[in-house]
This record gives sequence, C-alpha cells and structure tokens, in this order.
Amino acid sequence: MYAPQVAGFPKAELNDIASVARCIHDKTVAIMLEPVQGEAGVIGATREFMQQLRALTQKHHLLLIVDEVQTGCGRTGQLFAYQWSDIEPDIMTLGKGIGGGVPLAALLARDEVACFEAGEQGGTYNGNPLMCAVGVAVLEHISQADFLASVRERAAYFSDALLQLSNEYGFAGERGEGLLRALLLGKEIGHEIVEKARELEPAGLLLNAPRPNLLRFMPALNVTTDEIDLMLVMLRKVLDSIV
Ligand SMILES: *Cc1c(COP(=O)(O)O)cnc(C)c1O
Repeated sequence: MYAPQVAGFPKAELNDIASVARCIHDKTVAIMLEPVQGEAGVIGATREFMQQLRALTQKHHLLLIVDEVQTGCGRTGQLFAYQWSDIEPDIMTLGKGIGGGVPLAALLARDEVACFEAGEQGGTYNGNPLMCAVGVAVLEHISQADFLASVRERAAYFSDALLQLSNEYGFAGERGEGLLRALLLGKEIGHEIVEKARELEPAGLLLNAPRPNLLRFMPALNVTTDEIDLMLVMLRKVLDSIV
C-alpha cells in the first residue's frame, strides 16, 4: 500500500522451496516469512517447507527470520508457530499478542547472530517498563502447558463449528492453525458480511475480511466455547440476510 517499498526483497512462493532457492544470490543475507500468512488470508507454511527452509538457509549460511507478530504468543496453540515444524529460527519478531492489548513488540535473536547489546536501541516506546511488565505477565500466563492445551481444544471446537457452517451455506471450507482461522467463502462477499455484521441489532459483531473471499478470526486466546457459539449465532443472522 505504501510505495516505494524497501528494495532488495525478492518474493518467493510459499511452500515452494525451488522458488526460494531461485532467489538466493551472493548478496542474500536472510529468508523471512510468517509461519502462517495472516493478511494474505491465513495460509500456512507446511512443516516440510519450514524444514526445507531451515536446511536451505544453513546450507547457504543465511539467517532464517520468522515474523510471529500474528502467529506467536500462543495464537496457534504453541507458544510460537515455528514449533509446529520442529525447527529453530535465527531471528523472530513479536508484537500484538505479546502485550495482551497494550502496545508492545519485540525482536529476538540467537546469541550468535545478535548484533545489538541490551540498551543500544533507544526510543520513546522502547523498553517501556510498564508495558514490559504487562508483557512478562502475559508470557508467564500463556506459556503454561495447560493454557496452550486449552487453546488447542477451543481451536478444534471452533474449526469444527466453522466447517459445519461452511457446509450449511455451501462455502469452501475453513483453514488455519489454532485460534488463527479463516472461513473460505468461495465468493467475494467478505466485505458485505463485515458491513452487515457491524450493523446488527441490538449489538454489532466486528469481523475482518483481509481478502474479499474469506473471513479471518483471531479471537482472544481466553475465548470461551459459549462466546464462539454466540458469535456463530450472530454470523448466521448476517449470512441469512445475504446468502
Ligand atoms: C501487525 C503486524 C506487523 C507489524 O508489527 P509492528 O509491531 O506494528 O511493527 C508485522 N507483521 C505481521 C504479521 C503483523 O500482523
């Protein structure tokens, strides 16, 4: 949306390791991806692709960087989405969920590749003690095994419910990892659904269509099955008025 973009970032096809290999040349320093692409429509990198990327980057001495701003911090039912692939990246970005609602973001690097010392990057918002205290509390909570297990349980419930809804309305299924999911509409009615949902009476429903042919769902990680059911009742009302 905001041209011109920073030069030097050739794009490859997700889940096509040959397309990545073709982009590598003698000036390449890193390969970066989201383990599940969010804005693109909740499209997951396969476990095989992640492992191929790790092998390829090791072979060429390149950094593997994962953008886990959307997928990290328990969103997919693991603390970080890359863990589903049993690989370890060199650098990771975090944001959004790490603050549990307050503004906080982080960049993590393995010791061998870290070029900053603690405190070297200053700024108005960097290392804000109050926000960091929130982030610590969030991480302590979400990294508990039983919390992550409960995310996976409610994600399975939500996934089944979305699939059932898709079958009822003749849509194209659903996909995602954990509580980052998309309902595939099979036609470009996403924006219309978002508008109608907002206008629902007596209370509106906030939805999100990053692509016109799907809805993306990223509920709070402590969402209950009752809340999921309530959302689906409201969504059905909207769909009945459109489809
Ligand atoms: C929101 C988002 C960002 C931007 O994060 P900032 O902390 O605002 O820089 C980057 N990557 C993904 C996948 C995002 O969803």
